[in-house]
Amino acid sequence: MIKFNQTCFSDLSNLSDDELAGSVIIGFDIDWASDFILEDTLQLASELGVRPTLFLTHNSALIRNLFSEGQYEFGLHPNFERLLNGDSGNGLDAPDVLQRLMHEFPGVDVVRSHSLTTSSRLKALFKSNKFSIESSFITHGTNNIFPNFWYESSGMLHVPITWEDDVWFTLEEGETNGNASKILRFDKLNVLTFHPIHLYLNTTDVAHYNASREFINNPDELSKRRKNGEFGVRTIFSNIANKLRGERL
Ligand SMILES: [Zn+2]
Repeated sequence: MIKFNQTCFSDLSNLSDDELAGSVIIGFDIDWASDFILEDTLQLASELGVRPTLFLTHNSALIRNLFSEGQYEFGLHPNFERLLNGDSGNGLDAPDVLQRLMHEFPGVDVVRSHSLTTSSRLKALFKSNKFSIESSFITHGTNNIFPNFWYESSGMLHVPITWEDDVWFTLEEGETNGNASKILRFDKLNVLTFHPIHLYLNTTDVAHYNASREFINNPDELSKRRKNGEFGVRTIFSNIANKLRGERL
């Protein structure tokens, strides 16, 4: 029986084409999630046997421990969007934004900007700061098959995202299918992105998320807005994890 195989960004260059087919990377873009939300996500992943890559946006008591223990693969998730909006609150310019995050989490060589912001100048900045892998391009929703990854002219490896939770619930019904059998492909590398807030809420659609956003730092109120028993992001994650364990769905 063909099985899916969990891998991580730093192992990709060691895998043959045959090994890449059916391989799966699951990344969590942390997006400033409160520790109680991130704890829920990591416990869920652990219970289901998922070994995620954590794209870090900020520090906290929990994240400080996770980073020092080194049980996960880490990427940085710098936010350059605020600069584009004229807000220098998290850095005066792009190098400053990146340096502030690198100072918190030294030695990380995988990068994916928040909102997938990238540019030739940002790529040069990543390269000059010793990043070797970027994952900012997204193929979900295009109905096209892209290479598993490619080397850019800088020498950095680019690994496209093949599926993302908020794309799933933002696209019109019918344009994207949340069935794990449709999401995971046996013939190529699968790079999936989940967000802790959507796993926590089991987000079903944009309206559900928007109605919950004001409570993201309030565990009591947020837990009331979980869509238990409905088909949402947490359901998809569980189904994917079951597939990775070889269970038939
Ligand atoms: Zn993000």
